[in-house]
Amino acid sequence: MKRADNFNAGPAALPLPVLERIQDELPNYGGTGMSVMEFSHRSAEYEAIHNDAQTRLRRLLGIPDGYQVLFLQGGASLQFAMLPMNFLKPGEKALYVLTGSWSQKAADEAGRYGELLIDDWAKQGGYRDIPASIAGDDPSLRYVHITSNNTIYGTQWRALPKTTAPLVADMSSDILSRPVQVEDFALIYAGAQKNIGPSGVTVVIVRDDFLETANSDVPTVLKYSTHAQANSLYNTPPTFAIYVMACVLQWVEETGGLAGIVERNQKKAAAVYDVIDTHPNLYLGHAEKRARSEMNVTFRLPSDELTKSFLAEATERGFVGVKGYRTVGGVRVSLYNAVPVEAALRFAEFMQDFARRNG
Ligand SMILES: *Cc1c(COP(=O)(O)O)cnc(C)c1O
Repeated sequence: MKRADNFNAGPAALPLPVLERIQDELPNYGGTGMSVMEFSHRSAEYEAIHNDAQTRLRRLLGIPDGYQVLFLQGGASLQFAMLPMNFLKPGEKALYVLTGSWSQKAADEAGRYGELLIDDWAKQGGYRDIPASIAGDDPSLRYVHITSNNTIYGTQWRALPKTTAPLVADMSSDILSRPVQVEDFALIYAGAQKNIGPSGVTVVIVRDDFLETANSDVPTVLKYSTHAQANSLYNTPPTFAIYVMACVLQWVEETGGLAGIVERNQKKAAAVYDVIDTHPNLYLGHAEKRARSEMNVTFRLPSDELTKSFLAEATERGFVGVKGYRTVGGVRVSLYNAVPVEAALRFAEFMQDFARRNG
């Protein structure tokens, strides 16, 4: 069997040992004679999986007491709406820092619920950079919203900001790729399908004292408190997706934990960025160096013809998912946690080779 060198932006690569384990456990999970998809979310077997996923995530991210870990559905896109529904009212203010398309979408939703202050410094510059500071200390702010990694443009907050107003982050594309100080955040949300599992489950980490300030006039299923009180078992959760996520988290713990992830992610990103920096006239990086994402590397070539032939050759050599997002063009290489170091090294080697022939 040949596995693809998979640089998809999301859903994205999963670790082979995890896929093999799922395959092995599929028809008969733990001697039940059923797959995880076939038993009740109220069963002891499922409850153990559910709590295992939570415990591992808490351990890996160092989530302190006083925070809830929720498993929801609807993707990060539902969070764009659920967050302001729960925490913003007409007349109340939130600051949205626009650093890419996803933060723009988050702001578009929040604008329906309250008053927005918009930091569009990065947007004005074509989303190549991350602001050095933000006005997050205004006591009238209900919260400040940032996107920690900008999946489409390939920029990332290298140091996450601290604010006195409650800080909320969309970490969909870099959760568990590096250490974060969870204490600095009132709420973190992330679709699982980039770094920690398959699509279908969205992780929300929320501080209790922030949760206590939530609006009450919200439909039951869209209240964070409903899911917090029910340990994310208010209604049927995406049981299979949560099971796969638990398997991925176990794999992370067995392969060096967060420290192992950090080491591998740095190697992968360095390999690709080094080639960009060695051939700056051929590979035109989108992000300013100080704002480069370790997860999504974006660049274009000097002409559409060269970009096209680069992408065609990459495809021919078996590299999957390296075409840039439709609104941006160029090349995007996503190097999420489950992408093996060797795959990134092979891609960097291909870039070197292409440069020798076209530089
Ligand atoms: C992929 C992505 C989203 C969208 O996630 P869905 O689960 O498809 O709603 C939102 N924000 C960021 C930063 C993303 O990378």
